[in-house]
Amino acid sequence: MLFCVAPREWRFFAFFIEDFVVSAHAPFVSRHIGPSPAEQEKMLKLLGFSRLDDFVDAVVPQDIRRKEMRLPAPLSEREALAALQKIANKNQVFRSLIGQGYYGTVVPPVILRNVLENPAWYTSYTPYQPEISQGRLEALLNFQTMVCDLTGMEIANASLLDEATAAAEAMMLARRQSKAKSNVFLVDQRVHPQTIDVLLTRAGYQDIEIAVVDCKNELPQTEYFGVLVQYPDTHGHVADYRGLAEIAHANGAVLVVATDLLALTILTPPGEWNADIVVGNAQRFGVPLGFGGPHAAFMATRDSFKRAMPGRLVGISVDSHGKPAYRLALQTREQHIRREKATSNVCTAQALLAIMAGCYAVWHGAEGLREIGVRVHRLATQLALTLEKHHFKFTYENFFDTLHIDVGSRADLIMQRALDAGYNLRRIDASSIGVSLDELSSEAEVKLLVAIFTGRNEEIPLEKPQAMLPAFAVRSSQYLDHPVFKEHRSETEMMRYLRKLSDWDLALDRTMIPLGSCTMKLNAASEMMPVTWRQFSDIHPFAPLEQAEGYREMFDELEAMLAEATGYDAVSLQPNSGAQGEYAGLLAIRAYHESRGDSQRNICLIPQSAHGTNPASAALAGMEVVIVACDEDGDIDIADLVLKAEEHADRLAAIMVTYPSTHGIFERNIRELCAIIHGYGGQVYLDGANFNAQVGLAAPGHYGSDVSHLNLHKTFAIPHGGGGPGVGPIAVKEHLKPFLPGHSVVPLEHRGGLAVSAAPWGSALVDVIPWMYLRMMGADGLKKASQVAILNANYIAARLKGAYDVLYSDADGHVAHECIIDVRPYKDSAGVSVDDIAKRLMDYGFHAPTMSFPVPGTLMIEPTESETLAELDRFCDAMLAIREEIRRIENGEWTHEDNPLVNAPHTLADLTGDWNRGYDRKTAVFPLDGMNPGKYLTPVNRIDNAYGDRHLICTCPSPIDWEPPKA
Ligand SMILES: *Cc1c(COP(=O)(O)O)cnc(C)c1O
Repeated sequence: MLFCVAPREWRFFAFFIEDFVVSAHAPFVSRHIGPSPAEQEKMLKLLGFSRLDDFVDAVVPQDIRRKEMRLPAPLSEREALAALQKIANKNQVFRSLIGQGYYGTVVPPVILRNVLENPAWYTSYTPYQPEISQGRLEALLNFQTMVCDLTGMEIANASLLDEATAAAEAMMLARRQSKAKSNVFLVDQRVHPQTIDVLLTRAGYQDIEIAVVDCKNELPQTEYFGVLVQYPDTHGHVADYRGLAEIAHANGAVLVVATDLLALTILTPPGEWNADIVVGNAQRFGVPLGFGGPHAAFMATRDSFKRAMPGRLVGISVDSHGKPAYRLALQTREQHIRREKATSNVCTAQALLAIMAGCYAVWHGAEGLREIGVRVHRLATQLALTLEKHHFKFTYENFFDTLHIDVGSRADLIMQRALDAGYNLRRIDASSIGVSLDELSSEAEVKLLVAIFTGRNEEIPLEKPQAMLPAFAVRSSQYLDHPVFKEHRSETEMMRYLRKLSDWDLALDRTMIPLGSCTMKLNAASEMMPVTWRQFSDIHPFAPLEQAEGYREMFDELEAMLAEATGYDAVSLQPNSGAQGEYAGLLAIRAYHESRGDSQRNICLIPQSAHGTNPASAALAGMEVVIVACDEDGDIDIADLVLKAEEHADRLAAIMVTYPSTHGIFERNIRELCAIIHGYGGQVYLDGANFNAQVGLAAPGHYGSDVSHLNLHKTFAIPHGGGGPGVGPIAVKEHLKPFLPGHSVVPLEHRGGLAVSAAPWGSALVDVIPWMYLRMMGADGLKKASQVAILNANYIAARLKGAYDVLYSDADGHVAHECIIDVRPYKDSAGVSVDDIAKRLMDYGFHAPTMSFPVPGTLMIEPTESETLAELDRFCDAMLAIREEIRRIENGEWTHEDNPLVNAPHTLADLTGDWNRGYDRKTAVFPLDGMNPGKYLTPVNRIDNAYGDRHLICTCPSPIDWEPPKA
């Protein structure tokens, strides 16, 4: 038969095959990098170069260029997924009833698919531009409302990093709010041990003394400024803390309670017995265990603490038409403004996970949550009563879901029987075992547990469930009364609700997000897929390490690849944000100095232009911040640096320097700078947030730096999730290795430093994303990505030059991977502010660049390597068109009060209402020819921030009661 095929058709067939083969093997790097080789050539031409290598040689200083990176050869998407699947298979998914802050949960499929696996949700940025973020802001407001209702508190923030850091933040807040003079913070001995660890770390350099005591009996007679108890405690006991609250308050101290949201569906909430601050982890509201994270922690407080509360806070304000709209409230509290006076260094938090937990409450509603809580409690009582009948003793009578069981000398035997049955229990001490039931538990499971404990094979009938809560602990108050928690019981409604919210938002799935310093690059689907593999998602962080072989292998490989990429010797993946990495790195520096008898070294030099987290982290590490000036080119003033280093020579601990600089420049003297600091006995902390300009080109560990954090959620493709998750690993030189963060529950080899996160490997689950990214890109691909990132930024700078001033460039007129454009002159010439331009970009379908950082009144643009030439041009065209619009105001054609910039963004309501503007409707919403007819419209007009801060509302308003108060 084959011979019958005519030669012509054969050729066609062969051509088809070849084509198919080529596309099936198109390397991932060509999918990740936006501009094609032909497009790159075109862009290079505009910049006066013909070869990418020559161009990059002109931009990146020769004296820091690295030799070849040695990384494993790149894999295709399919190959990488197969390789990671093999690693994943080395994890063993046991059923973990360990508890201790982490519990089994059902991720509702409607949330799994429509939120966690949906780029409209996971690729969005922190909602600093509220008009294009109404969807995620509403979802976060739902989370805040849920936390307030369940804890019985007045105000809650939009997530913190994990329960342990939330407790540390609560301790600091208590210190600020307490009237007591003391520096002692009492911690009940039955708080989760990983929380106590992180408290000890934080207290260390804050002149706080932690006293771990037994709060169930009597509080010490000494003075103290705060008390932390866990409710139910780490062993499951539900204690009555009303007396304790009174005593604490009588002493002027603040009562902090760590709690569990599912327990609060049936337990009297801490807010009803006078707690001042309530913290916890929302993981068991539909967020996978993920070997420890990412999960959303929460903090709720009294209303009077709100201005001192750390973290982001979503509130309601009004837009320019007086309609209610969401936005981030009280932003002046945040680290980017308060710097070393900030109350916390938390920047990236856990938005995506908070959104998931809030959606879990929307999906189940009060009855659904209560039903889950009641079921778990009933099963726990059945287990307790049945075991009691078989002569097991209980240390505590009152419990919700966790039993502390005295097993005498049978502990080893029972633990082994549990393992044989595929179960992990908590070994508390020689003679006691903890069991925490959860949403996944069933009667069959309870029967199995009875068999494990009794060792009897025949089926033992379960005792009848009983309500076993004492009167003080029985919750009578309602919660989740708002319609949003009632109207989404059918999956159709829930799916449409989630779609409606994400449609309100502008994420990377619709447009480039040209945020300077934040590297919003492609988060490839193949990188995301392993996040929901159960061999990664269903592992408890304190499961026996033998069950996590796959995780260990993945971490080892990721750490090795990151060490090679940065030129350092060791990496810790524990910090769960960039700022936590800064903190961990500075702690390592302090510990290093102390190990050499230099404990007086506590001065940290920080350039003027630094990111706000730098001084905030230094302050948390107990360092004194000394600012180094920048010259008029925006570079660090070396003379001033020497002056300050000299002045503080004996006490110099470190410099924190961002490279390339926050001004988007490869400063020429970074080697010299490192040498100067070392000359005075200091250490160099190189902030690696801008590492996207360097991977494969230069390695901080080679040119003199001692430690860096990386933002895996910037450079290494973890999505931003609307403000988290993040991973901020630190990479260090050999001499700092002994001081990398350790962990007390899970011993980490050769890591002698203090713990900075609740879980040993922080946000372990999302580490699969950078692993995939690195394995698919390979050394050459990564280098190419950095080169194209620099090319894209310079292309934008070149295209905008003439229309706008590019504020900083190097001697040859080049920028690094981002550029700052100066729009300050238009304030005088046309009454146009940086805000007006940012909002006007929304009408053109864009997310605004970073505003007013590091220079007030400017825009910082970072396109990343993932954007194609067409998208860069679309953005440049929009920016140039806006410049022309400004000119029309300058010319007097439009007034300062009535023009498309000050009225931006425009909504459908504008278009369909009365139109009496000095420009037409087309100019308002289709200012450029050829704009996508399916263009994005913001659901609200410009939002009034000041108004919202004056009338602070941070929970879902009742739709009937709420109308904007009169200003
Ligand atoms: C993003 C960023 C940080 C902080 O990282 P987070 O993950 O948000 O805590 C620090 N420094 C610079 C320069 C950054 O851009």
